Amino acid sequence: MSKVRVLLVDDRPENLMSLEATLLNPDYELVKVPSGEDALRYLLTNDCAIILLDVQMPGMDGYETADLIKKDPKLKDIPIIFLTALNTDAGYVARGYRVGAVDYMSKPLVPEFLRAKVAVFAQLHRAKEKIIEQQAQLREHEAQAQRRRLAELELVSLRREQALHRRYRELVEGIQHAVVWVAEPSSLVMSFASPSFTATTGKVLDLNRADQLRHLVHPDDWPTFELRLRDLRPDLPETIVHRLLRRDGEVLWLSTTVRLEKKIERGANGGGHDEGDEIRGFSVDVTEAKLVERTLSLLARISEEANRSLDASDIVQHVAVACVPDVADGCCVIVESGAGDALPGVSTSTWSTPQQAALAEKLEALPLDASSPFYPTNAPILVRDVPQHLGGDDDLRGNVLRELGAHSFLAVPLVVGERRLGTLSMWSCTPSRPMNEHAMLLVGEIGRRTVQALENARLYHGQTEAVAYRDEFLSVASHELRTPLSPLKLGLQSSLSSLTKAPDKPPTPTVIKSLQVADRQVDRLQLLVDTLLDVSRIRAGRLELDRGRVDLDGLVREVLARFQVELDRKDLKVTQRLAPVAGRWDRSRLDQVITNLITNAIKYGNGKPFEIEVERDESRARLVVIDQGIGIAAGDTERIFNRFERAVTSKNFTGLGLGLYITRQIVRAHGGDIKVESEPGGGSRFCVDLPVEGDAASIMH
Ligand code: ADP
Repeated sequence: MSKVRVLLVDDRPENLMSLEATLLNPDYELVKVPSGEDALRYLLTNDCAIILLDVQMPGMDGYETADLIKKDPKLKDIPIIFLTALNTDAGYVARGYRVGAVDYMSKPLVPEFLRAKVAVFAQLHRAKEKIIEQQAQLREHEAQAQRRRLAELELVSLRREQALHRRYRELVEGIQHAVVWVAEPSSLVMSFASPSFTATTGKVLDLNRADQLRHLVHPDDWPTFELRLRDLRPDLPETIVHRLLRRDGEVLWLSTTVRLEKKIERGANGGGHDEGDEIRGFSVDVTEAKLVERTLSLLARISEEANRSLDASDIVQHVAVACVPDVADGCCVIVESGAGDALPGVSTSTWSTPQQAALAEKLEALPLDASSPFYPTNAPILVRDVPQHLGGDDDLRGNVLRELGAHSFLAVPLVVGERRLGTLSMWSCTPSRPMNEHAMLLVGEIGRRTVQALENARLYHGQTEAVAYRDEFLSVASHELRTPLSPLKLGLQSSLSSLTKAPDKPPTPTVIKSLQVADRQVDRLQLLVDTLLDVSRIRAGRLELDRGRVDLDGLVREVLARFQVELDRKDLKVTQRLAPVAGRWDRSRLDQVITNLITNAIKYGNGKPFEIEVERDESRARLVVIDQGIGIAAGDTERIFNRFERAVTSKNFTGLGLGLYITRQIVRAHGGDIKVESEPGGGSRFCVDLPVEGDAASIMH
């Protein structure tokens, strides 16, 4: 506990001494001053609990001093005890009280009284001090409570902020296919990027470096990107679609939305405050969507290219060119010979990047048949690792692919219904764009579109061919039909006029001859009309057989007998070697077959004798017609069995080119076949095989 300071003011040192002696107490600090002025001076810089003030002093007396003290707000509450020997009457005492004295003591002072009085004031002072101290403590306590409450509030808001921040961070960190970033508008230096930055770009984020934003944009797209960022206006977000070149060389497509916003940064005191602008970016990986978009436009382009031409070679060329380099680094399209009636022989087109064109040509020259591992039948062939799985002594194609630097390869069959048209194959030398299941879907679709274009071409050619056939047929048929008509008409007219002139006389030999000629002409016309009817029946699939027992040798003799007049007229000998063979066939149709072959042996036989054989073995009957006529070139021996196909010109030999077509259709309808062996000038050997089965075989025995 601090001492109670008591200020003793008296001009007489002996009085001061006696006061000091009276009040000597360890609880008091006694300060002695010799005048009112000294007392005031002392109080300017010091404090005290009680003032014992002598009233009568030279200079400033006790009242004046007390008056000044009471005027000072800092000092006015200090209790003053006036000490006087003189003015003990009530007037003086009243004056002392007016200036604010709390007590009044007359000299000579009774020491006990003085001590008791001072002790009361000292006690009061201590009580007051205690109250002040308690008040201060209370205030401090309240201040502490207030501070604690504030701190608690601060903590709650900090926690909330931390939770928000954590949530925000979790959100940002959870974003997989997008990068959230912030950059400074003038320098474009990044100040933040979400962790997906590394996964997206393949590069480690280093915010100490100024060029990090460039990692998000393909170098070719950077100038436009930068321009758009620099043109950003506050509150006007922009979306930029651009590429990104990953560290591994893969190219991604990003759609970046950027906005210019007021920067909010935490100040030193934790409060937020604005500090200029910042660009906030959100870059989403749209590669898949872009791929779909690009695939659709690619497919549309391929369809357009493929359908630009109606020529198979052009189509395969267009397709191959359109696929490189968007789908693959190299592409080879092969349309096989015989793939369609109207498609020409093998058409191959290989297209590769210009640097590899020469190598790709090598590939084009290599044959591709069903034995090759590159020949897809029903399903596509996918080779993911060309260096490991392809190449070697026998694998020429594989070797070329390896030379081309291909690491993956894909081949799909080109098919329409059951019919196989060829193969579409592609290879990739770019690791980031391998031939895989995705590529398989795309290439499969390209294949279907190629087939569609080839089919269009085939249908178109079939159509034009059909129109050409029809025109040719009409001119030949009308000629053929017309030729017998004029002599028929003339013959009938002259016979009619002879018979009318002499109705009672028997017809003259001339008339009879003329009627015979007319009869032959009618036969010829009937044959022509029957032939045309047969063709339309065959085309409509209505060639029906009326099977019954037929003796083939007998039928040959019968047909030959019908030709006898003509053979005699032309002095033609026919050698016959006819073994007895019977079967269940359509008699009139086989008659047609034999008639056609004999007609041709006479027509194209150069007037030389011919032979007819009928023989049989275990399961089949064979009819052979051998002539020594003009023969047939090797390239025509198959073709002449097709509709309207002829190996001669209509100038030298009349005909519709339908006889052998109908013949083969009839023979095939019986389950047999017809072939020819021939060489130009060396005659021809037509050989018809007919199956002899079941009861047909038993008939023969
Ligand atoms: P067409 O005799 O009316 O022309 P075909 O279908 O009977 O019709 O014959 C088709 C073609 O086959 C003939 O135009 C001819 O060029 C050739 N040909 C048929 N038979 C013989 C043969 N015996 N000798 C040589 N060529 C033949």
